[in-house]
Amino acid sequence: MTQFGPEYVRAIAPYQAGKPIAEVAREFGLDEATIVKLASNENPFGVPESSKAAMAKAAAELGRYPDANGFELKAALAERYDVPADWITLGNGSNDILEIAAHAFVQKGEAVVYSQYSFAVYALATQGVGARAIVVPAVKYGHDLDAMAAAIDADTRLVFVANPNNPTGTFIGAQEIEAFLNKVPSNVIVVLDEAYNEYLAPEYQFESASWVRKYPNLVVSRTFSKAYGLAGLRVGFAIAQPAVTDLMNRIRQPFNVNSLAQAAAIAALNDKEFLAKGAENNAAGYKQLTAAFDELGLEYVPSFGNFVLVRVGDDDGAGARVNLALLKQGVIVRPVGAYGLPQWLRISIGLPQENAAFIDALKKTLA
Ligand SMILES: *Cc1c(COP(=O)(O)O)cnc(C)c1O
Repeated sequence: MTQFGPEYVRAIAPYQAGKPIAEVAREFGLDEATIVKLASNENPFGVPESSKAAMAKAAAELGRYPDANGFELKAALAERYDVPADWITLGNGSNDILEIAAHAFVQKGEAVVYSQYSFAVYALATQGVGARAIVVPAVKYGHDLDAMAAAIDADTRLVFVANPNNPTGTFIGAQEIEAFLNKVPSNVIVVLDEAYNEYLAPEYQFESASWVRKYPNLVVSRTFSKAYGLAGLRVGFAIAQPAVTDLMNRIRQPFNVNSLAQAAAIAALNDKEFLAKGAENNAAGYKQLTAAFDELGLEYVPSFGNFVLVRVGDDDGAGARVNLALLKQGVIVRPVGAYGLPQWLRISIGLPQENAAFIDALKKTLA
């Protein structure tokens, strides 16, 4: 039989996304309206009203191509992060940024370093360019930055660091990240993926975008999919020095961020109330979920994101079994067996009543 494509493409295991509500309703014969989805770290408040209004206005111009250079969105981001606009690369979600980085900086036969239990897209982006993955064992479910620095070999061109990490929720402080950046050879690009940055409590916040001035090999990646509530629109961005940004923009598809997404992102960026409401709900939901886990005697990884990784049993069938039982009760969470965590589930933090529905279903399942 003819085999198409390179071996390294055939070896890729497809990404497993959270199940859509409509699919679960069909599969389990449930009413869509009663289903609770806490599976993809989406914002439980949905799209900000400010973004809806901006999109309604932008919709009149949908007959035209979007601004390939994203002038207005980049101007807004440049102001927010105090960097020149030509230090910014726009992405079709930050997944796109991760892919662009792999394509711009790594070729077949070279290597990429990332942590065990880190974001699944790092493996996909690495395999997609035929590079070798150097997966560094995690410590307490988080990145071991010393070991990651030590793992960089002569072939390494790129390192992915997720902070906070998904699916484990672990966080690395500013000092440790800077110490790491000081150790990485100057010809190796570091992508610091901060998809959950906006959820950090003020005492943990640091302005990584400003480090880009000091580190010519640093790429800071952010997204509008999580705290800004725009996951379905697909907008992310990277901040890096012009030499790096220029290469990323050569790989980037010219119209990768559509016009509705550009308009919505500008509005969301300036919607401080929406972010504050989301952060407040997230902190309360974290307490609600972890109190229930404590009550049930379940181990969880302390999380700095909008989700919690919880161990639902001590056999390797536990995650899949509990997940199925929850689905039958109309609660969608994320099994993480594909991450090598078959005893665990990842629960996105929802609205209080959504968290309560999940806790209720979990208690029934474990009883
Ligand atoms: C959700 C997530 C992303 C962002 O995905 P988008 O493509 O921006 O929707 C990036 N990195 C991590 C670690 C994530 O969890």
